[in-house]
Amino acid sequence: MDGRGDSDGVLVVGAGLAGLTAARALAAAGRRVLVVDKGRGPGGRASRRRSDHPAGFEFDHGAQYFTVRDDRFAARVAGWAAAGVAAPWEGRIVALDGAGVRDVRPTRRWVGVPGMSAPARYQAAGLEVLQGVRVTRVDRREGRWRARVEGGALPDGRWRDLVVALPPAQAAELLGEPCPRLAEEAARVPMLPCRAVLVGFSGPLPLEFDGAFVDDDRLAWVARNSSKPGRSLAEAWVLHGSAGWSERRWDAPPDAAVRELLGALAERAGRALPGPAHVDVHGWRYALAEQPLETGCLWGASARAAVCGDWCAGSRVEGAFLSGLAAAAAVGEP
Ligand SMILES: Cc1cc2nc3c(=O)[nH]c(=O)nc-3n(C[C@H](O)[C@H](O)[C@H](O)COP(=O)(O)OP(=O)(O)OC[C@H]3O[C@@H](n4cnc5c(N)ncnc54)[C@H](O)[C@@H]3O)c2cc1C
Repeated sequence: MDGRGDSDGVLVVGAGLAGLTAARALAAAGRRVLVVDKGRGPGGRASRRRSDHPAGFEFDHGAQYFTVRDDRFAARVAGWAAAGVAAPWEGRIVALDGAGVRDVRPTRRWVGVPGMSAPARYQAAGLEVLQGVRVTRVDRREGRWRARVEGGALPDGRWRDLVVALPPAQAAELLGEPCPRLAEEAARVPMLPCRAVLVGFSGPLPLEFDGAFVDDDRLAWVARNSSKPGRSLAEAWVLHGSAGWSERRWDAPPDAAVRELLGALAERAGRALPGPAHVDVHGWRYALAEQPLETGCLWGASARAAVCGDWCAGSRVEGAFLSGLAAAAAVGEP
């Protein structure tokens, strides 16, 4: 892989589900595609973190599960299931509020196997994907896109089309100079932050559920990661702070963040909880769009640049997939 574009090539920035879906559709249509991502592996916000604790705790610290409404996504998920990279999560999901534990409406919830990044890895198979490469600048000259990356440039790459598959603030930053209109549209979609606390325990917590939507001003969601299919059985929990708490406590020391969210869970569940054997904290600066667009993607026909991501189509895993398809369709137009 030399990162070299050609006259008909497409550069995709971002190897989350939106970028990879766009890339796959374009490659299937016969286009040469290069995907570039700053992360260590594909998946973006649908990802998994494994601890180095001897018990083998592991955590889906971003997206928790996904649901399926659209037929095109249903077909893709069926393919993932057949390949063994996704399966239904049969855990008991409840709502936790001041009144106690309440079951929520049953819905089929899917998860990646063995972690939430697995479907993205599957989408990436067979594509040219450069990981660990942050794009710092894109510009268009003589009808072709070029990209600068941290520490240099992509070797002599020139692409006819560009797909920017990033959260809106990052997309806006990249496109500010070459495509100010697209950048402005993206910048109008604010994203809420989420601080995630990842905790491992030496035995099962005395809680009679596996996932809970929490009605609390600190805590929004908790999940027993180890109840998902194909995971390590070591008792691992993911706690997502509410957007308000995450903003207020973004810089709070990790041990304070853990104490506050575990305290909120114990309060809401009405149970004393044991101290964790392992703790970790992760901050998602751009977690979810408060008011996502419903445009599918943004397309600048004269510059031949598409912008896509979950925030263009519903702020969920399914939205990222559909937005990637929309971007590929836009780019595919002559
Ligand atoms: C805490 C949390 C909980 C969530 N829970 C759920 C849920 O339960 N169900 C659900 O359906 N969805 C959930 N989501 C949303 C879901 O994760 C997203 O909808 C989906 O993963 C977004 O995919 P994407 O491709 O649009 O963006 P991303 O996954 O954000 O992909 C963007 C990619 O761009 C890369 N990148 C960024 N800047 C650059 C750069 N300059 N150069 C190169 N690469 C760059 C990043 O590394 C990343 O891989 C959750 C998200 C979070 C954060």
